[in-house]
Amino acid sequence: MYLRELCFPVEDLRGVGPETAALLAKRGISTAAGLLSRYPRDWEDRSRQVPLKDWNKGPVCTVVKVLAHDWFGYGPMRTLKIHIEDESARAVLLCFNRPFLAKQLGQGKSFRLWGRFFYKHGDLQSSSFEFEETGKTAGFNRIVPVYPLSAGLTQNLLRRLVKAALDKYGKDLENELPQGVIEKEGLLDKARALRALHFPGSIEELEGAKKTLICEELFYLEMIVGRRAMERRSPSARRTPVAAAGPPASGGNDTSHGSRVSNHEHLSPLQRQLLARLPFSLTAGQEEAIGAVNADMAGDYPMARLLEGDVGSGKTLAAFFAALYAVDLGGQCAIMAPTELLARQHAENAAKLLEPLGLRPAFLTGNLKAAGRARLLKALAEGEVDLVLGTHALFSSGVVYRSLRLVVIDEQHRFGVTQRQAILAKGASSLINPGTPDLLMMSATPIPRTLALTVFGDLDISVIRDMPPGRKPVKTHLARESNAEKVYGFVEKELAAGRQAYFVYPLIGDEETADKGLKNAVTMAERLSAEIFPRYKTALVHSRLEEEEKRRVMEAFRNGEINILAATSVVEVGVDVPNASCMVIHHAERFGLSALHQMRGRVGRGSDQAFCFLIYSEPEPESEPGDESGKSAGPRPAGLTNEGKERLKVMLENNDGFIIAEEDLKLRGPGQIAGLEQSGYLKLGIADPVRDAETLVRCRDYAFAVLKSDPALLLPEHRRIAEVLERAPPFTDAGL
Ligand code: ADP
Ligand code: MG
Repeated sequence: MYLRELCFPVEDLRGVGPETAALLAKRGISTAAGLLSRYPRDWEDRSRQVPLKDWNKGPVCTVVKVLAHDWFGYGPMRTLKIHIEDESARAVLLCFNRPFLAKQLGQGKSFRLWGRFFYKHGDLQSSSFEFEETGKTAGFNRIVPVYPLSAGLTQNLLRRLVKAALDKYGKDLENELPQGVIEKEGLLDKARALRALHFPGSIEELEGAKKTLICEELFYLEMIVGRRAMERRSPSARRTPVAAAGPPASGGNDTSHGSRVSNHEHLSPLQRQLLARLPFSLTAGQEEAIGAVNADMAGDYPMARLLEGDVGSGKTLAAFFAALYAVDLGGQCAIMAPTELLARQHAENAAKLLEPLGLRPAFLTGNLKAAGRARLLKALAEGEVDLVLGTHALFSSGVVYRSLRLVVIDEQHRFGVTQRQAILAKGASSLINPGTPDLLMMSATPIPRTLALTVFGDLDISVIRDMPPGRKPVKTHLARESNAEKVYGFVEKELAAGRQAYFVYPLIGDEETADKGLKNAVTMAERLSAEIFPRYKTALVHSRLEEEEKRRVMEAFRNGEINILAATSVVEVGVDVPNASCMVIHHAERFGLSALHQMRGRVGRGSDQAFCFLIYSEPEPESEPGDESGKSAGPRPAGLTNEGKERLKVMLENNDGFIIAEEDLKLRGPGQIAGLEQSGYLKLGIADPVRDAETLVRCRDYAFAVLKSDPALLLPEHRRIAEVLERAPPFTDAGL
């Protein structure tokens, strides 16, 4: 049996009654498989003695003797203090809520102690400790697992249950990795690895167990990625030739687009018309991306391409070129953006750039009123709209396309897997030429190499590395909140020179900020306009405004009727106003790196020098360390944490979105990055594609080699892989 096939209910284990089962169920654990694959988050090495005097080198693990008891506090707060000593030092155990320890740890007794100590009021103290009689060695003299806990579950309970499950079911677990990989990598058998991961006999054994399970996880991850890439090019995925549409131009099937960058033979008729109308020429990165997209769209299989490019690199234009190709093929295109603000901006650009070419663009969001919506849906179904731009509404029920040929998803990390699938499904239900549409996903949050090999491993990737000419990198400055006046003074000069500015705040309005001492957009918009910049026009934009109001404000800002935009992070994505030269972000320490980078990318979009000011709150005086009284000091005041400091430093030192994304990944771990977790991506149990990048690459090679030699996994040596994928897959396809 494979681990994930151990579907025995936890109730079968000794000591698990309905109550414990319910607690486990809350954590999503209902079977032996679930219990055993909930890996420890850490291990405590209690195999080595750490005397009291070495308390600051880590947890103490030693034999101590009780010297005396002593109590402090009154009534229900009365707390036991036990004075102890080992060979090296004396210390005090604080027994909060554990008065019963007086009996167990009587004066003169000796026992093994494990705990974390700190110095306070001249005493070496601990309130988190475990102990055991000296004769027993159940928990000591070994390495114990530390599990992620939730209310009601204790370490001891989990340790006991995992041990029981291992004893009962863990003996004859089958290996999941092919034998060849186990040998090449020098890995343990699955049964041994699993036991050693939970209860390692030594640090070396633990390392071996980790390595084994990490390889296993990454091998199957890459196996699934590899299979998906193959499926995309399988005979069944081949698209039926489009009868009605004429070929866009000669040579569309040629994939060596790199060499044709300067002549534009590969462009379709509409694309050439657009190019001729542009007041600038395409950047090399745009040329290359458009070439790759054209080759994909002319190919036999639906495109699945990710277009990465830093903020301001001109991805929208590349998407419009793709849309024109789809229209030349006789199809329709849908461009989906995560916010109405951004979708509308795209729609306005499309109207400006594409309508003159005879295209019929439309704008569809959830806010469209009934009559307008009905008219638009009819036009879409009848093919009277070529290009529809909008939000999630693009795949809402009732939307039928005449012939959806291309789906563009802007800021793709804002969308989940299911949403991506829902919009693609609209292609399959097209009235004419149904089938999987071409998919172009765009991201200004560059995907680090490691993720490109995993989550996005089945996609083709294009990267725009260059910026439109004449752009100067944004100058970034840090400022303390108390120096905000200086920043205002600087911005004033820019305003006087005719430029515009954004001011971003972490919160919308007063009600949320009452006790946090944070600036908010509503109040600050008033102050900016009445006190700080009375000579200039300020407007406010945030997510709770009516769409119509947002639209009006953004339009006025774009037209220059408004000088200053006070906003929340709604301006984070996509907003493009080239005349804006200042981005001021208050409480910058509270924003994530990708949001900061995105916001900074709102300026520096023209040829003027642009500036970004990251204003941070002063650090609060630190609360007394080691305060064990259990009283919380109230809501944590806003202030600069170490990680916040680190983020600001990264912003100060880097302009390149790729580097910032890598730093973000290091600071936060891959699960957190750019909403991957929310989208259900990458549910790994023990592997970390960043930390384990080298293993990942090797596992990818193993998996791809298997698929290359035996795509259907029919050879006897691949039977195991086929079985695991069929009977007990580590990942669901949708989770990738
Ligand atoms: P992003 O990649 O962040 O989505 P946009 O598509 O919003 O970037 O483009 C940023 C700005 O650059 C827009 O104002 C756009 O008109 C302009 N732009 C795009 N391509 C070029 C180019 N080749 N030369 C000059 N400006 C360009
Ligand atoms: Mg964009």
